[in-house]
Amino acid sequence: MLLLNPKKHSRNYPDERSRDIMRKTIEFFENKGKRKLKADDRDRVWYADFIEFQKQEEIFAALLTPSGYGDPDCRWDTWRNCEFNEILAFYGLCYWYTWQVSILGLGPIWQSENKDLKRKAAQWLKDGQVFAFGLSERAHGADIYSTEMCLTPQGDGTYRANGEKYYIGNGNKAPMVSTFGKMADTGDYVFFVADYRHRNYDLIGNVTQSQNYVANFALHDYAITEADILSKGQAAWDAALNTVNIGKYNLGWASIGICTHAIYEAIHHAAYRRLYGMAVTDFPHVKQMFTEAYARLVAMKLFALRAADYMRSASPQDRRYLLYNPVVKMKVTTQGEDVINLLWDVIAAKGFEKDMYFEMAARDIRALPKLEGTAHVNIALIVKFMANYFFNPAEYPDVPQRNDAANDDFLFHQGPAKGLGQIRFHDYNLVFNSYDLPNVNVFKGQVEVFKEMLARATPSEAQQKDTDFLLTLGELFTLVVYGQLVLENARIYGVDDGTVDQIFDFMVRDLSKFALQLYGKPSSTPQQMDYGIKMIRKPVVDAVRYQRVWLNQVYVLKDEYEMNP
Ligand SMILES: Cc1cc2nc3c(=O)[nH]c(=O)nc-3n(C[C@H](O)[C@H](O)[C@H](O)COP(=O)(O)OP(=O)(O)OC[C@H]3O[C@@H](n4cnc5c(N)ncnc54)[C@H](O)[C@@H]3O)c2cc1C
Repeated sequence: MLLLNPKKHSRNYPDERSRDIMRKTIEFFENKGKRKLKADDRDRVWYADFIEFQKQEEIFAALLTPSGYGDPDCRWDTWRNCEFNEILAFYGLCYWYTWQVSILGLGPIWQSENKDLKRKAAQWLKDGQVFAFGLSERAHGADIYSTEMCLTPQGDGTYRANGEKYYIGNGNKAPMVSTFGKMADTGDYVFFVADYRHRNYDLIGNVTQSQNYVANFALHDYAITEADILSKGQAAWDAALNTVNIGKYNLGWASIGICTHAIYEAIHHAAYRRLYGMAVTDFPHVKQMFTEAYARLVAMKLFALRAADYMRSASPQDRRYLLYNPVVKMKVTTQGEDVINLLWDVIAAKGFEKDMYFEMAARDIRALPKLEGTAHVNIALIVKFMANYFFNPAEYPDVPQRNDAANDDFLFHQGPAKGLGQIRFHDYNLVFNSYDLPNVNVFKGQVEVFKEMLARATPSEAQQKDTDFLLTLGELFTLVVYGQLVLENARIYGVDDGTVDQIFDFMVRDLSKFALQLYGKPSSTPQQMDYGIKMIRKPVVDAVRYQRVWLNQVYVLKDEYEMNP
């Protein structure tokens, strides 16, 4: 089964240590139990128990120290980090968050030329510490060009840091907060480390009311020497963007983990709740909602797993991951919202109850599309790849499934974060044409019309600057990329044709929805409106396939997993 089931953990790992990390983490949460998990959520308890657990087991150290800086079992291996992400979010987004912001904090460190700071970070990891990424500022949101934190040279080779950061996870506990700023004299970007225990580090408070500590902190004349500097100028800028390139990928896994736990809870409740003398799962619309939620969740996982193959195989010559990662970020996370919406409509009042995981899921699933660059920022990025994707394909050797025990070296050597418009992609038709399934075929027809629209009714200069128009165009493009990698991975995982066709049932409807949006945009031309209408299609109805997926894949989940009380 593709979905994570912590009670039947069976994922393939090339080494015992990796398997052990996953099993022990599951054990930690199952021993903690749902009652305590929920009580801590309600009481907003700082997750010291989890941090202590990972420290005792040296888990962050094993997973987040690149080869060469730690013990022999340490490596940065996206295959295992994916599942670790998923497990943490399966039990609670807050546990995932402290890990995620540690990843972000480590990004500028592992990309730095400062070997002493890298060694120091490796030691802190071994000691069980967490890390933090000090990029955001209160007034500037996504606009990091406007960063105000600054380093003022003192004339003796040292600096004084002054400024404030806002929304910085783990900013209350990280001995190395990777802090982004500018040089006061030249305006050059800089990344340096600050320690929360320093007396000139002013921990102003927690911006949120949650188990997380999302810090607002200020540095007042905080003394910095060259030894504290991670990178300067272009390298510092690249480190910021490349860190987000790595980190944003994990947000998809948080959504997958949340949705997986939620679907088990929801179907268990619905299957055993009787109304009017029948089970709730006997209602036709309920079957439809569960089947759709399941199909969407399977697609989320197939896409995110396949994107990891490309990320792990990336090189200066193959930067396709720079498209696939923002798609994980914006598409997988927004699909997560759709899954929770569907499930919540079924379980209704039950989703509010304080003892349900679902209550947290319904709240937390909203976070993922918004953090680390909103869905909009990522769509704006995605459309930069569209011309080459459709009109200038290149040949690449096949990328296999990457479940090997390799250190993902390239992630910390990504090079300048530019030249996106030059990146080329393998031909999406290859995989679409290798399937002959009713709904995949309908979808292919829609994509052909979309491509024709781009060629014959090409968005004008003005439309290309109109982000409102561009967002809809980006949604349409994203669906093609999503479908491509889902199909590639469905083959690798041997997903049955019925499930694939069920996935493309919603893909056809989603494409139709965005085509209608394009039609209705203020600036769409009559020609573009015609193409919009031509893209609207109905999925092929196949009652037998649908019933098979519902009974054999979805309904069977009703007793598959329940968290220990
Ligand atoms: C719980 C939480 C934890 C966080 N943790 C961290 C952390 O550890 N470290 C850290 O550095 N930051 C952190 N952040 C900050 C987070 O990454 C930002 O919230 C996020 O980048 C978006 O900024 P904003 O919410 O201020 O939106 P704004 O930037 O104010 O955006 C406003 C609107 O403009 C749109 N917009 C902005 N720029 C563009 C663009 N280029 N193209 C299209 N649309 C655009 C947005 O989509 C949005 O609709 C955290 C935030 C929260 C809430």
